[in-house]
Amino acid sequence: MTYDPHNIFARILRGEIPCEPIYENEVAYAFRDIAPAASVHVLVICRRAAVSFDDFMQQAPAEEIAAFFASVRQVAFDLGLSETGYRLIANHGADATQTVPHFHVHVLGGEPLGGLLASDRKLR
Ligand code: AMP
Repeated sequence: MTYDPHNIFARILRGEIPCEPIYENEVAYAFRDIAPAASVHVLVICRRAAVSFDDFMQQAPAEEIAAFFASVRQVAFDLGLSETGYRLIANHGADATQTVPHFHVHVLGGEPLGGLLASDRKLR
């Protein structure tokens, strides 16, 4: 899939859309999701022009991948979620219902999150 430089997260990274970052460094940029699915819901996006997790993993050098995922962990820690727990989600493609075609990881927590999928109501 070709990267669309006009997607909303690319525009946030360029400063064309107002956004208050809660964390940023040379590879990652994090901010609160506009439609939170849990009491804490933050998105960590890559600075690289990558469509999804799949694309990011193919394009990025190992050091950048490590730095990105270390950033995700730092964000979860800074949000105070390390003790109580949190869930990471990275949607890739249609079956996962990815809506923004720029790689991002959802960090969800602050409450018991329940089953993994909508059809899975089990508390784990
Ligand atoms: P996904 O379905 O995995 O592609 O997730 C995209 C996420 O981006 C959704 O949870 C949206 O609520 C969120 N989102 C879309 N636009 C914005 C925005 N301008 N600021 C913050 N979050 C956004």
